[in-house]
Amino acid sequence: MAEQRKATHQQTRALNEGLVLRTLYDHAPISRADVARRTGLTRTTVSDVVADFIADGLAREIGRGPSSGGKAPILVDVVGDARLVIGLDLGEQQFVGALVNLRGEVRHVVAAPVIGRDGADRLATLQRLVDDLRELGRERVLGIGVGTPGLVDTERGTIRWAVNLEWQDLPLAAVLRERTNLPTYVANDARAVALGEYLFQRSDAGGNLVAIKVGLGIGAGIILDGEPFAGDGLGAGEIGHTTVAESGAPCRCGRYGCLETVASSRAILRAATAAALERPSSSLGRRLAHEGGLTIADIEASVRDGDDAARSVVADAARPLGEAIAGIIGVLNIHRVVLLGSVTELGEAWLSVVRAEATRRAFPLLAEDTEIEIGHQNDNVVVLGAVALLLTRELGLAPKR
Ligand SMILES: [Zn+2]
Repeated sequence: MAEQRKATHQQTRALNEGLVLRTLYDHAPISRADVARRTGLTRTTVSDVVADFIADGLAREIGRGPSSGGKAPILVDVVGDARLVIGLDLGEQQFVGALVNLRGEVRHVVAAPVIGRDGADRLATLQRLVDDLRELGRERVLGIGVGTPGLVDTERGTIRWAVNLEWQDLPLAAVLRERTNLPTYVANDARAVALGEYLFQRSDAGGNLVAIKVGLGIGAGIILDGEPFAGDGLGAGEIGHTTVAESGAPCRCGRYGCLETVASSRAILRAATAAALERPSSSLGRRLAHEGGLTIADIEASVRDGDDAARSVVADAARPLGEAIAGIIGVLNIHRVVLLGSVTELGEAWLSVVRAEATRRAFPLLAEDTEIEIGHQNDNVVVLGAVALLLTRELGLAPKR
């Protein structure tokens, strides 16, 4: 009985700490009394928890706020750099690792190319990357978050299948935990991106969000009622390999005409290069001749130059994505859809076609209330998402409901 009471007490304590930290996170600088008001906890409980945070270096007092009659209250703030999280983005061409603080600010980034290596080699590269970051962050490192393509069982920390990394049933969380002795969580990259957008961007749109990562691969991360939704087979949001073009181009998944064959960065660069070669005197053609290769930014610049071929390359890539989003709107009726990843560098010309196509195809009553926009954190979206995963799990920063 005593043991049980003790367990319950500890659970309550952890829950209270999570609540207080979440409130500090969202509203700091804030007084203890305000924290109590917002959480519904007693002032004594809040004071105890805050005292522990201050002792641990997680929070600090930053002076007095405005008085509302009586004595001005002391304000408490989160110390962003008190803890660091190792965030990892396991891209197909390179692995990027970073030390990120509690505010989602990236403090140090390292990258290692992995293209052309086999599965075992990639794992060794990842382990070296983690060792380096652990060494840099030392005792401030709170844990590790990993965003990876593929089907991921986040509860077990296992990568079920990541085709391009050649990993199957890899217990990655356990492998890294054993090596570092740090709490480690693994999620599908698109799902991590959704969580990062949700935690760090403080969406006011309530508890639901769809974040779509459009880069080399295309995947959607879905947050329902504040929780990432994985689906029955861990594949919720895997829209990249839905066929959109009958008898379309071959896809690396072995089939033809998948969304990725027309809307991914690879597909867009291929189409733009073909268009540039066809018309060497166009803006795209001149950029290709000058630089020897095209980037997404080149295509965007050519659209701004008024290059029709560039514009139609962008529109052709945007339309099928808009169609996929219309499907998501119809199924989930979520009001906020955020686009992230390298393809979003195409900017307004691309976004406007995505929006128009989604709106045209979705049920009008649902579409008119849906906002489709490009997210903010474009450089390290997966890294930040992986960090958000660790923070929500480890610090009880459960996203708002
Ligand atoms: Zn495919």
